Amino acid sequence: MSLHPVRGHEELRHAVARARSRDTLPAALLLHGPRGVGKQRLALWIAQLDLCGAPGPEGPCGTCRDCRMVLRLEHPDAHWYFPLPRPTGASSPEKMAEALEEARYARLSEIREAPLQVAGADGPTGIYLAAARSLRRRAQNRPSMAPRQVFIIGDAETLVPQEASPEAANALLKLLEEPPRDTRFILTSSEPGSLLDTIRSRTVPLLVKPLPREEVVAFLEEHDVDREAAEAAARLSGGSIGRALGFLRVSEGEKPGDDPEEGPLEQRRREAFQLLRAALSSRHGPAFRAGLEQKVSGARGLLGLLDALELWLRDLAAVASGSPERAVNQDAVPWMTRKVDEAGLTADAVARSLARVDEAALQARGNVNPQLLVSGLVSDLRRSLVRPAAPEATRV
Ligand SMILES: [Zn+2]
Repeated sequence: MSLHPVRGHEELRHAVARARSRDTLPAALLLHGPRGVGKQRLALWIAQLDLCGAPGPEGPCGTCRDCRMVLRLEHPDAHWYFPLPRPTGASSPEKMAEALEEARYARLSEIREAPLQVAGADGPTGIYLAAARSLRRRAQNRPSMAPRQVFIIGDAETLVPQEASPEAANALLKLLEEPPRDTRFILTSSEPGSLLDTIRSRTVPLLVKPLPREEVVAFLEEHDVDREAAEAAARLSGGSIGRALGFLRVSEGEKPGDDPEEGPLEQRRREAFQLLRAALSSRHGPAFRAGLEQKVSGARGLLGLLDALELWLRDLAAVASGSPERAVNQDAVPWMTRKVDEAGLTADAVARSLARVDEAALQARGNVNPQLLVSGLVSDLRRSLVRPAAPEATRV
């Protein structure tokens, strides 16, 4: 199977194709924008443009041998790196590098088999020093088939936090400083603020904007998603096909009677809903239990959950300000309306609580205990959202 055709971002693609045809496209690009908005897919499109044997003014031809190989993730001169779980049991740096390369190829072949399947991001992942070194070694070799080679580094901000030293990022930095001839680097990041300044200053930033909601719905409908599910997922996706896919139910296995599984983002949406419920509970117990349900380490893994919680709080603020139609979690609007009435919530109070979620996201990037982080967050949200019950009310 090949990658699905790239959707939207026409303006950006035209600008890139024009620069490429004039040979003014910078050697190191940084595609930044919201998570899941299609930055890595776009990076692969640029790789295809670079390697295409007959690129036109609008982009790669899509039919030549190089184009087809890039789309099948098989082109020997298009190298795609992304965060992976840290291999266990690697006894030396060489073994670690081997294990990472194996894991990378395994993931690439999974994507090749099911390009639309969203990987569940369980546990901490990163781009490790060993991967950055292998990338550097490759970049110093000549391309093997095309006149040039392209390196894509997805979620480039994960180059730093997993390492005790910024060595992984520095290995890459040396390359960006003096890129080998006929080599392009395309970094992507949804947290460009977390990149090393030195990496940011050596890459030319290109903003990848969210897609219009109709575009996301159209894509899903073309892939046999029924309209209602497509609308709901598109609403939650924030203009990202990648995220929309994560909210769909996916069937595992073809056996009849198999229950469709929830996509990873849908699972997270439900988990975040439980946090919201705990934060709006009149009792303290649920906040404590919400903490205990988390893992004991790997706080970075909470970032997706915190994103989902932020969406819930934004929706709650929309409902509290009398604009429930703006909520993305439409299925819970009646519940939120009831809660807003019960607790006398104001949009201001809810909006203020968002700052606490941001703070928790910062903590999650550091090395904190996820259980303490979540129970502390939910308790604080509860304090700021739920008014203490009047004594008369508690006696009833
Ligand atoms: Zn081509």
